[in-house]
Amino acid sequence: MTSSKAVKFARKALEFAWDKQFPVDPKRIAAGLVKKEDGKDFKIVVETKSPFDEELGSASGYAEFREGTPGSFVCAYNGLEPPYRNRFTIAHELGHVLLGHVAPGKKRKRDTTFNSNGDWDEVDANAFAAELLMPEAYVREKAKTMTDISDLASFFGVSPTAIKNRLKNLGIL
Ligand SMILES: [Zn+2]
Repeated sequence: MTSSKAVKFARKALEFAWDKQFPVDPKRIAAGLVKKEDGKDFKIVVETKSPFDEELGSASGYAEFREGTPGSFVCAYNGLEPPYRNRFTIAHELGHVLLGHVAPGKKRKRDTTFNSNGDWDEVDANAFAAELLMPEAYVREKAKTMTDISDLASFFGVSPTAIKNRLKNLGIL
């Protein structure tokens, strides 16, 4: 099931901060946005981490609000994983931030597998990431002329599994 709020937020993020280049660069999008919290604007910082960093450990990434003056929202990812995985991780963590899953006083969201296991925050963050990296309108258009899964995967900068799932969910495959 797809969350329409998550999809709406992803489209808004694209509208505000995307340079219309493929593959979509979620780092650049995060840098072009702010997150409002209690009427104040906070920066969204994307940080690369290694498995030796305690906060990351065996996870692919996490999202949190970091206290400070001013505080900031953080999307962290495991820099040792391949670029397509990093793009997905950053997009997913950005989803957690923009959808309000992390906030001052709330627990950090750590992601190991991206299997939602019925957790709605995870379902929504995945739906956000899918629309951000593989915007529906562009996938529909591109799939008309590009039929090879690995060509589509590299065009959108995602894994073959991710584009296959996207095509299935959109009823194209
Ligand atoms: Zn998550």
